[in-house]
Amino acid sequence: MQIREHFAYCPKCGIEVQSSDNHRMFGCEHCGFTVYFNVGASVSGICTRQNGDVLLLKRMHPPRMGSWTLPGGFAEPDESGLEALVREVYEETGLVVTEPVAHSAFPNTYVYKGVTYATFDMVYVCQVEGAPILDGTEVDAHRWFSLTELLDADISFPSLKNAIDLYVSQHDLKKTTG
Ligand SMILES: [Zn+2]
Repeated sequence: MQIREHFAYCPKCGIEVQSSDNHRMFGCEHCGFTVYFNVGASVSGICTRQNGDVLLLKRMHPPRMGSWTLPGGFAEPDESGLEALVREVYEETGLVVTEPVAHSAFPNTYVYKGVTYATFDMVYVCQVEGAPILDGTEVDAHRWFSLTELLDADISFPSLKNAIDLYVSQHDLKKTTG
């Protein structure tokens, strides 16, 4: 369910409210209280090692438990995209990213405990070195994927799948055009 559909009462004045198909905001006609359901910003990394393989992690929890995902997570308030990337990759894998370059951003929906959130998933391309040490709370397995293998992997979210497919197509283009 979209966030707005969970509102049966105004959280400020407590009056009963009607359901609405406006998934962008809630506005109380009684007291004027207004809240916007803005998209949540997430940041992920296409983390490559020296031979060009890309690191994917296996999700331990819903949504999309057991699927492969890029290291990443939601940006904190006041955090830059780059700061969020560095923090999230380190928290999940213990790896330090180098040479990060902003790559792409696609929309997604993220269902958590029955609430559907609209997200904006930003992706960086970066380098990492060494073996990941997983945090064991969000992800419980890792694997390095070649570019060909990436296209067949069960990727967690359409936004990240779009970013990965774009990355692979750009890489193939570079190879064929020399
Ligand atoms: Zn109200």
